[in-house]
Amino acid sequence: MDFSLTDEQQDFVAAVRDFCARECGTPEQRKRLTEGHTVLHSAEIYSKMAELGWLGVTIDEAWGGSGGGMLDACLFMEETSRGLAPIGGYATTLIVAGAVARFGSDEQKREILGGIAAGSVEAIAMTEPEAGSDVGSLTTSAERVDGGLVLNGQKVFCSNAHISDHVLIVCRTSRGESKHEGLSMIFIPTDHPRMEIKPIDTLGGRETNHLYLSDCEAPAEALLGELDQAWTQLMAGLNVERLILAATMLGFGWRALDDALAYVKQRRQFGKPIGSFQALQHRLADLATELEAARLMTHWVATKVDEAPDTMLPREASMVKLFVTETAQKAALEGMQMMGGYGYSSEYDMERLVRQTLVSTIYGGTSEIQRNIIAKTLGL
Ligand SMILES: Cc1cc2nc3c(=O)[nH]c(=O)nc-3n(C[C@H](O)[C@H](O)[C@H](O)COP(=O)(O)OP(=O)(O)OC[C@H]3O[C@@H](n4cnc5c(N)ncnc54)[C@H](O)[C@@H]3O)c2cc1C
Repeated sequence: MDFSLTDEQQDFVAAVRDFCARECGTPEQRKRLTEGHTVLHSAEIYSKMAELGWLGVTIDEAWGGSGGGMLDACLFMEETSRGLAPIGGYATTLIVAGAVARFGSDEQKREILGGIAAGSVEAIAMTEPEAGSDVGSLTTSAERVDGGLVLNGQKVFCSNAHISDHVLIVCRTSRGESKHEGLSMIFIPTDHPRMEIKPIDTLGGRETNHLYLSDCEAPAEALLGELDQAWTQLMAGLNVERLILAATMLGFGWRALDDALAYVKQRRQFGKPIGSFQALQHRLADLATELEAARLMTHWVATKVDEAPDTMLPREASMVKLFVTETAQKAALEGMQMMGGYGYSSEYDMERLVRQTLVSTIYGGTSEIQRNIIAKTLGL
């Protein structure tokens, strides 16, 4: 397998790196763009990236994108995370983009994919108060009425709904023999008067939301793909969803290592730089090794997806999500430990890296669920 990047990909990585250094390279810039570190998404940075054509990296040229693949998208996410670009809305947007590219009508592609390439954010809501890891048990319903559907129910942890144009709601449209039958995906605009969006306070700040749908009407054209077929549609998107979370965390993991290395080289205790203590050197060497392995795994799975976009890779997709998120989390926690009290202080980015990586083993399918899936592929 060839792991070298093309000249074009190397130029793309360099351009994203330069952009991040210029636009959000200093603590002052990042503080301003994130309203004092209270939000994870800056509309200002995002629209500059849209102008550069980067947000449509995986979107077909016919819909305003540049027609790249998942490897290109992973390079973008790794670099923007490593550069601490506040574009927290991108991950859910890319998940929705994948679903629309696979199952959308031309009209949906024109509106949603065109909008994403131009800088809009999108969100997806599967999780409910009583349906977390067991997504198939969700109960939010959509009843068919003349000319459309009417949704009722409650969603929880819908990331970015507050900054999105639409939420793609996964809901129940019928009851089959199995709980996975009878689910559908429906787009609801976020300014719909019958969908209330309420923030949830988290360790990460303002990122995720409750949704309350009460007699929320949607036209028939709001359905994405086929009625009652959402489970199959969700499964088709899992490769991409897990890669997105992995690539984003890969960049944060590298950033934790970068910052820890810079710190141990300049911080002196007992008359010498703390980076001269072997107790720290060995742990930094381990982190560098594990992050290189995480990068290889991300590029490997992204390349497999680009080679055969319709092939489901449950084992590889779960492996990359599991391994990269746990590696990034370890890098941030180790980085904090090696920076002592300053790693814990909000003056440095490390404490934010810890918070952002902590949640990555929970959302998008917890580490336990990824291990369950991998174990199943081992015949267990
Ligand atoms: C910040 C944040 C953003 C999120 N964004 C979104 C979003 O945009 N859209 C969306 O739909 N959802 C989103 N989620 C929801 C997320 O995907 C769920 O929180 C996650 O799938 C786990 O569900 P749960 O929280 O209900 O935990 P539960 O399913 O109740 O699990 C609790 C614990 O039990 C373990 N467990 C459960 N079942 C098993 C099992 N079979 N075997 C072993 N262990 C098991 C879990 O691993 C976990 O440790 C987000 C969550 C967070 C925290």
